[in-house]
Amino acid sequence: MGVVIELSYFLTAILFILGLKRMSHPTTARSGIWWAGGGMVLATVVSFMHPEIAGNQLLMVVAILIGGGIAWYTGKRVAMTDMPQMIAIYNGMGGGAAGAIAAVELVKLSSAAAVVAEAAEPAVHHSTFVVFLAVLGAMIGTVSFSGSCVAYAKLQGLMKKVIRFPNQQKVNMAVFALMVLFGLLIIFSSHPQIGVILLFFLLALAFGAMMAVPIGGADMPVVISLFNAFTGLAVAFEGFVLQNSALIIAGTVVGAAGTLLTQLMAKAMNRPISNVLFSGFGDTGGGPAEEVTGSMKAMEPMDAAVMMSYASKVVIVPGYGLAVAQAQHKIWEMTELLEERGVEVKFAIHPVAGRMPGHMNVLLAEAGVPYDKIYDLEEINSDFANTDVALVIGANDVVNPSAKSDKSSPIYGMPILDVDEAKNVLVIKRGQGTGFSGIENKLFFLENTSMVYGDGQKVAAELIQHIKTL
Ligand code: NDP
Repeated sequence: MGVVIELSYFLTAILFILGLKRMSHPTTARSGIWWAGGGMVLATVVSFMHPEIAGNQLLMVVAILIGGGIAWYTGKRVAMTDMPQMIAIYNGMGGGAAGAIAAVELVKLSSAAAVVAEAAEPAVHHSTFVVFLAVLGAMIGTVSFSGSCVAYAKLQGLMKKVIRFPNQQKVNMAVFALMVLFGLLIIFSSHPQIGVILLFFLLALAFGAMMAVPIGGADMPVVISLFNAFTGLAVAFEGFVLQNSALIIAGTVVGAAGTLLTQLMAKAMNRPISNVLFSGFGDTGGGPAEEVTGSMKAMEPMDAAVMMSYASKVVIVPGYGLAVAQAQHKIWEMTELLEERGVEVKFAIHPVAGRMPGHMNVLLAEAGVPYDKIYDLEEINSDFANTDVALVIGANDVVNPSAKSDKSSPIYGMPILDVDEAKNVLVIKRGQGTGFSGIENKLFFLENTSMVYGDGQKVAAELIQHIKTL
């Protein structure tokens, strides 16, 4: 039986890795989900045969029914715009599960039976190492759990985006130091007190939340992917504790992918990760805020349609508002009409546009926009200077020129799409609403910018109607 279980876990690991590989390209991503999902089903089914869970099968079925039922229901009902917070909370659940596994192992250790068992165990050193891994996994998993819950609350609009108080970093460091101290106490005592274990977990919960609470503005994507990496690591550590190869491999794969994503996100924000986490939390660089002068000029959809129809080059910049309006299909229909008229149209995607990595790519792929029309920030930025019309739809922070010039801005230093350099800029948005980081956008007041007010989908539909009449 042991061989069957190990072989199945090995097959699971292969399915996870192949699934992840397929997810790295939009054309194979959907099948990648199925491959990885198949791996997960296999690992779950095979776990029923594991000797250690003998007699607990009914509990497992109940847990699967509850967890699976909630996931099925929420997965079916979630709106595309709420997907980021759902991912944040599911990621948190992974961290929480790893923390819970560790809690069980540590509580076992504290019980008298475990003390006796450990006394009979010759490899005491190994045992300390395993406890070390359990504590490490518990710490990282629990931090990821509470941090992801805070990220969820922020994305869902349940709490303020940025909460700061005096000496925040010192308080955070103190909580971190205490958490590590209690972790060490557990590692080096042969049968840790249950109170010590409880305090350790409470400190880890507090630290995770406190770590995420002050991070707002444009830095959230980095933190979300960091927690994702944390969850993977925690699962891998608990895999070592349980001697479960499927957990080790799945956790390592998620941890590695999450770490790479965190690096990419931090690079996209032009901030070292340490800077996001510890240095001012997206604080301003000091100095007075740059004054925004000028006024916003409204333009009717008819005039916008004429401007684009007679342009030779148009670059479309989608942002979170495109997702809210679900305007991707209409925008693609409009693009096809423009192309029929001989206009060259490209799409420019900022790495943190929307509310999750790849958010815009997913929407455009859903609408059928070919991949060769979609350009990353580095590929397209030099193009704006010779673009006739940059059409910004529902994007705000990712096109805010203050990031380049205003040292007092919370997004100062973040690379942005240089739409302000285009000959004409059209911005589709509903009104005066700010972007995720809550700041004014200088772009909207520039001489070459015109605002086409309205819901993204409604305006796109009007543009289509007008282009057809030209
Ligand atoms: P923003 O959130 O900065 O701006 C979105 C704009 O869309 C708003 O100004 C809003 O203005 C407009 N809008 C909203 N609804 C509609 C609608 N129905 N029709 C038309 N316009 C609409 O979006 P960006 O994509 O520019 O920037 C993303 C931000 O989110 C960045 O700060 C990023 O750091 C952050 N973030 C990104 C994550 C990621 O992983 N990508 C994760 C978490 C945060 P109005 O209300 O006037 O219509």
